[in-house]
Amino acid sequence: MCVFCKIINGEIPCYKVYEDDKFLAFLDISQATIGHTLVVPKKHYPNILSLEDNDILGVVSLVCKKIEKALDVHNFNILNNCGVKAGQTVDHFHIHISPRYDNDTMKIEFGSNELTKEAFSELCDKIKKN
Ligand code: 5GP
Ligand code: ZN
Repeated sequence: MCVFCKIINGEIPCYKVYEDDKFLAFLDISQATIGHTLVVPKKHYPNILSLEDNDILGVVSLVCKKIEKALDVHNFNILNNCGVKAGQTVDHFHIHISPRYDNDTMKIEFGSNELTKEAFSELCDKIKKN
């Protein structure tokens, strides 16, 4: 059983900030920023590619609002890592909520690939038709 399933069934303790019948939100053990929270479905889906329940975004929004009120913070990154190359370390789908502060130490760098108009168009068509 995965570590988040163990948290969900109470085998491993967590700092729970929200729970309903389908979802759980708890503080990440490694606080990238203060208030860093994970939202997970109680059902085990390995990643977003296997996810069958899209209601999680409503819970993410609700938990952001709770953090906003509690910590008086108004900037957030909402993040999901899918696969090892993307930095996924726990194979139970989860969304990171990271409040952002002036001078915090969290870094996200997207970088940029230069594409011609033709390359954009080809890429767009390729994705669209699937
Ligand atoms: P990922 O790298 O898969 O996107 O994120 C996994 C997250 O789970 C990490 O930020 C890590 O700190 C957190 N994590 C791993 N094990 C535990 C645990 O036992 N309890 C809590 N609260 N967080 C955990
Ligand atoms: Zn699991």
